Amino acid sequence: MSAPDASTRVIAVDGPSGSGKSTVARGLADALDLDVLDTGAMYRAVTLAALRARAPLGDEDACAKVARNAQVEVEGGVTKLDGRDVSDEIRGPEVTAAVSFVSAHPAVRKVLVDRQRDWVKRHDGGVVEGRDIGTVVFPAAPVKVFLTASDDERARRRQRDETAAARDVDVDAVREALARRDHLDSSRATSPLRMADDAMEIDTTKRSVGDVVEEIVQRFRSGTKEA
Ligand code: C5P
Repeated sequence: MSAPDASTRVIAVDGPSGSGKSTVARGLADALDLDVLDTGAMYRAVTLAALRARAPLGDEDACAKVARNAQVEVEGGVTKLDGRDVSDEIRGPEVTAAVSFVSAHPAVRKVLVDRQRDWVKRHDGGVVEGRDIGTVVFPAAPVKVFLTASDDERARRRQRDETAAARDVDVDAVREALARRDHLDSSRATSPLRMADDAMEIDTTKRSVGDVVEEIVQRFRSGTKEA
């Protein structure tokens, strides 16, 4: 008999930028004593590597080669590229503007999806956040969450993050950049941002983090209870 599939201990958290994925994913991980993987940070780290290598961002083979050669570690809120901490740099405007082009390449996605599945095996499950986790990466996850929030609220949250990182941007510019990225992520041919048919959709606009986390924890506990 083979060992139980680690993906049966995955909580997939998907949704657009600013919907609350990272905060909710961390809350879930704490509540359930699971590790958390931010797959957006992986795409951002590969994008940074592509920018540094001056790879043409529209060239799938060149970007996939960069992805294969990049050593990316995402653990405990710290992202390392080839052993160096790039946690701040991957949130900067250059990477944010470029990441949706790099992540649209199927060959890049294949490299990172394999690593995400490997991460889950090594961690015996976990909370995995991204755009295609419930639809493509872990379609067998017992709990899938799709978070949303109003455009205004998402823009406000992102602006708050930018201000905290000492980057000064106005809320209209943030809203426009979010809409551009949403459009690219939702309209790409491979693994577009989309809610899985069996996901629970939660609008986080007016809800506290604790409340949202509690709702998902209940679902996880009832779904994974032994018969
Ligand atoms: O989550 P975050 O906003 O940091 O993600 C950055 C970008 O990485 C997204 O806009 C998207 O292009 C890409 N991404 C993806 N698939 C994932 C996670 C992120 O394509 N699972």
